[in-house]
Amino acid sequence: MAALERTLVLLKPDAVARGLAGRIIQRFEDAGLKIVGTKMVQMDADLAKKHYFDLEERFGPSVFNVTATFMQSGPVIALVLEGVEAVTTVRRLVGVTFPNQANPGTIRGDFAHTSKAYTEANHTVAANLIHASGNPEEAKYEVELWFPEAELFTYQTVGEKFLF
Ligand code: ADP
Repeated sequence: MAALERTLVLLKPDAVARGLAGRIIQRFEDAGLKIVGTKMVQMDADLAKKHYFDLEERFGPSVFNVTATFMQSGPVIALVLEGVEAVTTVRRLVGVTFPNQANPGTIRGDFAHTSKAYTEANHTVAANLIHASGNPEEAKYEVELWFPEAELFTYQTVGEKFLF
């Protein structure tokens, strides 16, 4: 039997500052994903480097720098969500990186609209509200980076008999 997956979600500083935390978390709960860990965190440079360890290699120093700076500009809300194929399920609910290309119905598509062209022309960050682990290996690394075992919880939800 395939196991349930855990995945890391961050509500980025724009989501927290815009007061969208409740509405975003609601979408994950509505889909039946279980919150097994959560906390508010002020990221520092070390955590930004560890979290986005390959961003500079993938996109260059400028993208890494604007993203790392943005992620430290205010508190984030970190969540570990559990469910069936939770990594891909969460990515589907979040939508693609640039909000103007994210489908309506996704979090990025419904609550943001900026584009790659605008972001790059202005040397700014793609303010896209959410981080979600990209694949199961990344999820394992990120959950361990953000949450010690003692901050992760095992409990039953009333819905999981039907959802899982
Ligand atoms: P995702 O968050 O959709 O998995 P990536 O892993 O490719 O996207 O990038 C991580 C984050 O870095 C993005 O969510 C975005 O905030 C930022 N980012 C990516 N590409 C750019 C870019 N070209 N310009 C500015 N910020 C970017």
